[in-house]
Amino acid sequence: MADRKSSASSRPTVRRKERAEPEAKKDEEPAKEAEVSETETPKENGAAADATNGEKPEPMELPPFEIITGNRIDPFFFKFQFKNVEYSSGRNKTFLCYLVDQGPGADGLLRGYLEDEHTGSHAEEAFFQQVLPSCDPACKYTITWYVSSSPCAACAGKLAEILESRKTVRLSIFSARLFEWEEPAIQAGLKALAAAGCKLRMMKPLDFNYTWDTFVENDDQQFTPWEDCQENYEYYQEKLADILQ
Ligand SMILES: [Zn+2]
Repeated sequence: MADRKSSASSRPTVRRKERAEPEAKKDEEPAKEAEVSETETPKENGAAADATNGEKPEPMELPPFEIITGNRIDPFFFKFQFKNVEYSSGRNKTFLCYLVDQGPGADGLLRGYLEDEHTGSHAEEAFFQQVLPSCDPACKYTITWYVSSSPCAACAGKLAEILESRKTVRLSIFSARLFEWEEPAIQAGLKALAAAGCKLRMMKPLDFNYTWDTFVENDDQQFTPWEDCQENYEYYQEKLADILQ
């Protein structure tokens, strides 16, 4: 997913957090400090990226195809990219952690992650090009993704097609955030994906812990979910349930 910051600026809805924070700040200045400084970095990144985008860089300046694959994610990137804030300023890429169970008799579990950036192919599509380019019809594939953001409309459509054509593939997607969930095309895409048999869920605090333990270069450190992790999960889960009902 290439460009998420535009979604933040183009959204007409006033976000709950943005309304709440200025009031809260007056009363709780010291307590809010840590949270503010933490969310400040993404905003600055977003602003910097917006400024760059404003100058409309030539497409040639960007790598034509860059999907990064790896075993474990840098902990700093994880904490930033997977944070389930309600708007995703500065998070202009998708991190996709995957587990693939190929069933009995196969080579065991595949585990790793993909991230996309400035690329024609989003991480979701890249997964089926790079990690699982073909499926043995004799195998049953149980695929679980933990993604920083739910699929864009184009990816949702492609994934639905893949699930329709590869009947031995079962896909569950756990998302930290919903991407542009107000957009009708996105909602239609998520519905099509669910209709094709994909399980769509938002990541709970426990899922963040699991993802940290399983996919992050954690140096045996414990992960403590941020303060509003559960609250944000519930917010997104409600939106997702509304879309899929
Ligand atoms: Zn996409």
